Amino acid sequence: MTPNEFALNMSTPLPTDTSQENATAIHIANPLNYITVNYMVSLGLIACLAIAVLFMLDSIIVEQNQSGKIIHIGGQQRMLSQHVNLFAINYVHTKSELSRKSALEALEIMSANHTLLLDPHNEAIKNNRPSPLSEEIRALYFSPPHEVDSKLKLFIDQVTNALSQKNTPVSTAIYNASANFLDPERNDLLYSLNMVVEKYEQESAEKINRLRTAQNIILAIIILTIITETLFIFRPIMRNIGSYAELLKKEANYDFLSGLLNSRPFSVIANKALSSAQRHQTDLSVIIFDLDKFKKINDRYGHPAGDKVIKKFSAILTENSRASDSVARIGGEEFIILLPNTHLDDAMLLAEKFRLAASQSEINHNNNTITFTTSCGVSQLKETDTEIESLINRADNALYKAKRNGRNQVAADH
Ligand code: GH3
Ligand code: MG
Ligand code: MG
Repeated sequence: MTPNEFALNMSTPLPTDTSQENATAIHIANPLNYITVNYMVSLGLIACLAIAVLFMLDSIIVEQNQSGKIIHIGGQQRMLSQHVNLFAINYVHTKSELSRKSALEALEIMSANHTLLLDPHNEAIKNNRPSPLSEEIRALYFSPPHEVDSKLKLFIDQVTNALSQKNTPVSTAIYNASANFLDPERNDLLYSLNMVVEKYEQESAEKINRLRTAQNIILAIIILTIITETLFIFRPIMRNIGSYAELLKKEANYDFLSGLLNSRPFSVIANKALSSAQRHQTDLSVIIFDLDKFKKINDRYGHPAGDKVIKKFSAILTENSRASDSVARIGGEEFIILLPNTHLDDAMLLAEKFRLAASQSEINHNNNTITFTTSCGVSQLKETDTEIESLINRADNALYKAKRNGRNQVAADH
């Protein structure tokens, strides 16, 4: 590789074309679909439960509203019956036309209220449907001892009739009606109306409590669902994304065959090392390696054998370098090692060590023992260097010198 080729290699972006991805043996499963489906299912479930809570809340509001109306009308009946009684008796005593009219008006409202309260029940009975009223309320309205329905109708009839006979004495009829209204011995109407209102209140409170309990249960289910989803769906999703990112990072930074750094991450590391060396006035050296006559190894023993050699030489480089050194594969059979805080002389000694180790190693492949050698080019950072490429270009020049001089040797660019 020429210095220009290397510079180009270091600045070339990673392939993004998916056809290249298909061409590679490693397939990284994109977790996007899996995540989307899981996410949609889990959010859908929470949304359904939230909608259920909303409906529950809505029915509580409707129920409270209806109960409020019924209780209000029930209470109004109680109050109206008292008004009727008072106005009617006042009429008997004073013959006040205003009292008579007020009593008749109150009776009219009572009658309308009564129809309104029993409308749903009557409608259901007419259509052979079960009554919406509870058994207890039905008993209060239609069965002895309270019989509110007939008592109320009777009271309305009696008082209305008595008040309507303008010119005849009405006192007896009104006193009779009053007696029905206020006789505690006979479960008077006022007491029965009280019972109806109380029953309505009690039933409404019970119904609202049941709805509240159901709502709380659904809320608990939502919280439980969220916890379960966090543990069993979102956490695995995050783990999946994490390992996917890890895999991509590895794929982007490391060479698959040798496990060494690729050109691009090496370039980033090298530039940082250059800045650091310039700032701290420290040494920085590089060694570039190119395996000798590698094509011949491939031709003679096959490509897999060549791969084995590449792996072997990569292992020699990693095993003999320090943690602060960075080793990369920058071409087919070309490698580079960045040596921070290392003088050229030490870098040359190290290169010699690598060269020797390579020349002494043997690879067994299909009953063949393969040996190989490497040429090494070494260079050191100069004060005049402003970019890492200058240092690498000089090492590359030295490498070509080593090749020209017969290979399997170390050459330096001073
Ligand atoms: P020189 O001593 O001048 O460097 O000669 P060479 O044969 O090593 O150089 P040349 O550039 O002609 O050949 C390099 C060969 O490396 C050619 C190519 O097929 C082989 N090669 C590149 N990458 C790989 C790889 O990943 N695996 C294998 N097995 N061979 C590779
Ligand atoms: Mg080469
Ligand atoms: Mg070569």
